[in-house]
Amino acid sequence: MSVPNNFEGFQAPNAENYLDFQKGSWEPRPFGDHDVDIKIECCGVCASDLHTISGEWGGCPYPLAVGHEVVGKVLRVGSKVTLAKEGDRVGVGAQVYSCLECRQCKNNNENYCQHQIDAYGAKYLDTGFTTQGGYSSHTRIHEYWVYPIPEALSSPDAAPMLCAGITVFSPLKRFGAAPGKKVGIVGIGGLGHYGVLFAKALGAEVWAISRTRSKEADARKMGADGFIATNEEGWAEPHKMTFDLIVNTASSTDGFALKEYLSLLDIHGRWNSVGLPAGEGAAIRNQDFITNGCFIGTSHIGSRSEMLEMLQLAADKGIKSWVEQIPLSKEGLQQAMKNIETSTVRYRTCMVNYDDAFGN
Ligand code: NDP
Repeated sequence: MSVPNNFEGFQAPNAENYLDFQKGSWEPRPFGDHDVDIKIECCGVCASDLHTISGEWGGCPYPLAVGHEVVGKVLRVGSKVTLAKEGDRVGVGAQVYSCLECRQCKNNNENYCQHQIDAYGAKYLDTGFTTQGGYSSHTRIHEYWVYPIPEALSSPDAAPMLCAGITVFSPLKRFGAAPGKKVGIVGIGGLGHYGVLFAKALGAEVWAISRTRSKEADARKMGADGFIATNEEGWAEPHKMTFDLIVNTASSTDGFALKEYLSLLDIHGRWNSVGLPAGEGAAIRNQDFITNGCFIGTSHIGSRSEMLEMLQLAADKGIKSWVEQIPLSKEGLQQAMKNIETSTVRYRTCMVNYDDAFGN
């Protein structure tokens, strides 16, 4: 199968009509020695896609194809590529480049490199090419950000792990989710459901912390040992100072009582907010967490080594994503974005049937 001269994709046309996806095409950046050309098979839908095209995060270049949870097949590799070969089934996440030379890159922290490039809406400094995401026919990616997908994982199950999964797996690993630790996951959406699955797989006691009880039965099936609904009067009281780590995936701060959530942590426990809501964020005073001296932080996706470890763990432990598949089309993307807006997605959408959208 040959690589076309132009790649095609469903692009958000402008900020006013960001859900009016139009099929567009573009010339990919020049093929480099370390590049891998991939024919995309499916792509998960992240709340970040919506934050981006709606302008909530401050705007993006249009027209733009978003989507950063890609699985596909390698069509061709550059002359110096050693990490992938033609015919492999591979994945690509939210990051597609970093310098690989700085202090952060050399310490397996390339997801914090100052020269990193996102999977969509970012410019390569050398060519000026603006990255286009995974609601597209093909993509061209530096081999370092191309990951082999274990046989045991189906493509629609693996795709959402490449952003949603890794974004919770990284802080769970780094901050010690393990046997004997009590871990809370705030927000049971795409990221949050992986938070429950992976915290359990790492051996921790895991509690789902959601706004209502509507997701309780599902969260318990995912492995949650306990469930807290924050719309209930006095919800924090029985759980004060009992958690070692809480990973917060909430995508909005509307009505978010940060002080109450922090009160759940044990002494020097850790609050890690991976959610990236629009707006100013929550206000916090030192007095709000002086009772437990907890640490407040955030984290950005994960590194290549964490990605490989997560995929292997998922394959070894038979971790099953909760995925709704929708055929890729303008209407399909609109439906997927609406399901995020209304919090009705259970729990990640994966866009599929790419051959119908782009041909063979
Ligand atoms: P989803 O919409 O799938 O899930 C978000 C969940 O947050 C909802 O299901 C809901 O859970 C909860 N939530 C929403 N609003 C509120 C609120 N006002 N108060 C409390 N809880 C709320 O989104 P994703 O999982 O795809 O993404 C989550 C966030 O993570 C987004 O902001 C996204 O941009 C960000 N993100 C960050 C990354 C990083 O590297 N740090 C990488 C990828 C995504 P429930 O109904 O259970 O209350």
